Amino acid sequence: MICEIISIGTELLLGDIVNTNAQYLAKRLKDLGIFVYFQTVVGDNEKRLLEAFDIAFKRSDMVITTGGLGPTQDDLSKEVAAKYFNKGLILDFNSLKKIEEHFLRRNLPINDAIKKQAYIIEGGEALLNDFGTAPGIYLEDKGKVLFMLPGPPKEMIPMFENQVMPRLLKYSKGILYSKVLKIAGIGESYVEEKIRDLIENQSNPTIAPYVKEGEVTLRITASAKNQKEAEKLIYPIEAEIRNRLKDFIYGEGETNLEEVLGNLLIKNNLKIAVAESCTGGMLISRLVNFAGISSVLLEGVVTYSNESKIKRLGVKEETLKKYGAVSKECAIEMAKGVALSLGADIGISTTGIAGPSGGTDKKPVGLVYIGMYFNGIEKYKELRLSGDRQRIRLLSTNFAMHWLIK
Ligand code: ATP
Ligand code: MG
Repeated sequence: MICEIISIGTELLLGDIVNTNAQYLAKRLKDLGIFVYFQTVVGDNEKRLLEAFDIAFKRSDMVITTGGLGPTQDDLSKEVAAKYFNKGLILDFNSLKKIEEHFLRRNLPINDAIKKQAYIIEGGEALLNDFGTAPGIYLEDKGKVLFMLPGPPKEMIPMFENQVMPRLLKYSKGILYSKVLKIAGIGESYVEEKIRDLIENQSNPTIAPYVKEGEVTLRITASAKNQKEAEKLIYPIEAEIRNRLKDFIYGEGETNLEEVLGNLLIKNNLKIAVAESCTGGMLISRLVNFAGISSVLLEGVVTYSNESKIKRLGVKEETLKKYGAVSKECAIEMAKGVALSLGADIGISTTGIAGPSGGTDKKPVGLVYIGMYFNGIEKYKELRLSGDRQRIRLLSTNFAMHWLIK
């Protein structure tokens, strides 16, 4: 089933409003496995709209229109569609009743222009409008399918979801179902390298990696008759991916690092304290994104200068002199210092060179140490990151959170 979206409205053509309706419909149709090969925008003009219908039905089986169902002179979508199908317009009594009630309740006068909205194409079905007056129209004629929806998104979306979707299932071959795996602790190119053969040989399901906020997400999408069938198709591929990336997959679906980490800390009742240098508060801010963290998060300090590291965290002057602030030794002392000061189970720290300047051959920009102090055990991770200052800070934060989860 091939569908074309026709967005009707001169304001759209003139660029006065953004065609969010077409975007919405395209996404939803894709989810249903109904192909959209064309989208058309046309003004409120009889001749050109007729032409648009003519072209659309020649190349597509189904057309969904939005706009031009209202009471005013320029609203002529259904009149033109009726003309195209060589049909008349008939009064839909249910719709008329609804419109009359609507106006009666508000004590507004009702006129012919308003009543005009209650007319639908002969042989078609009215689609109830729960958020406005003009009904939509569903028509099946000579193997072609037409849905006409109102222009205002707050009317169009519920009508699509409640009235059109159930009718569309009949035409869609099945569904598209996705599973999303969330990955941290490695870069996109490494993820791709690990599963390149799977991506190259994909057909159904498809595997799509994408990056957002320094995190890699893998979307595995299957098209099938129903969700159960789709899950069956996804399962073996997912298992293979999990096997190859097991150290880096931390969750699935709509979750994020702060949520997974927060829940883990709460479940194990582990109190945490944070000492940050190069991330400058980013890590504590991410932890605080998770509602409920207050039961396990004790404090976060940003100790940017050496002096602050010494005074607030008890980092030894000697350590700073000997190894510098960007060193595993300093990272560990920071983590230990912040953990011990309030008696946290876990202390976590960041110190590094976020750039763009300040790097040396021995300590280049992107060198970051994460320190951890966990129930008496000292640990550190050395990261060599690339990118600009913000990216280095973001990746350090993600890395620290991911390391805590693992
Ligand atoms: P009304 O009864 O409000 O006149 P209608 O079905 O006749 O509804 P239009 O007159 O075409 O629809 O559009 C009404 C309003 O809906 C527009 O002014 C605009 O704000 C919004 N709208 C129309 N089409 C779109 C679209 N494609 N994307 C987003 N908004 C739209
Ligand atoms: Mg209108």
